Amino acid sequence: MIEAARKWIDAARRVVVLTGAGISTDSGIPDFRGPQGLWTKNPLAEKMSNIHYYLADPQVRKLSWQNRMASPAWTAKPNPGHLALVELEKRRKLHALITQNIDELHQLAGNSPDKVIEVHGSMRRFMCWGCGMRGPMQLVLERVRAGEEDPACRDCGGILKSDTISFGQQLVPEVIDRAMQAAAEAEVFVAVGSTLQVYPVAGAVDIARSAGAKIVIVNAQPTPYDDVAHAVLPGSISAILPAILGSASRSLQ
Ligand SMILES: [Zn+2]
Repeated sequence: MIEAARKWIDAARRVVVLTGAGISTDSGIPDFRGPQGLWTKNPLAEKMSNIHYYLADPQVRKLSWQNRMASPAWTAKPNPGHLALVELEKRRKLHALITQNIDELHQLAGNSPDKVIEVHGSMRRFMCWGCGMRGPMQLVLERVRAGEEDPACRDCGGILKSDTISFGQQLVPEVIDRAMQAAAEAEVFVAVGSTLQVYPVAGAVDIARSAGAKIVIVNAQPTPYDDVAHAVLPGSISAILPAILGSASRSLQ
């Protein structure tokens, strides 16, 4: 199956990749939804990621800011899975990199920001719920470190949060449209480390398949799309991605 996936990718000009939490676990960022995930272990963590509780309760926001400061993502480094996607872009085959992750490890690895479609936003930016202002998250975390428990927007006094899509919050239609358009243009669509259970993003697989793309799924656990995929590759993402996305000369070494 790995050999077949590799050949499709070697022959393709437009590869679209969708990544989920599974690609970042080898970088030390836990999968929030998995059996060992934070949400499963701590129901309060789920409350913090719900926009209604977040806006209504200063205590929830206070805890959220402490959580953001303590995130393992601040020191996480891209792993061989991320680097394989950079190589795919260098081979001029990466049409779009749709990600459900908010850690920006794709950009840190070296993928062009204009290739990355962040359907759930980025934890490295903040946004103001009142005026919509955005900026680097570290600016707000500095205020938290200096003693502000729930820093307000300096322009309008509004509630600040990370520029990510919380539960109960609408996805950004333009971003989703862009992701679906890219999926429709794929010759090979590779879903990596995503449970493919969150819609509408998982629907990108249907769109790519209807448009005639080969579907490759790389995920440790089974997904609802395994039956319609042309190749299902379970196992270590850090090992499989370099094997299917790297240049042929590298595989012969
Ligand atoms: Zn504001």
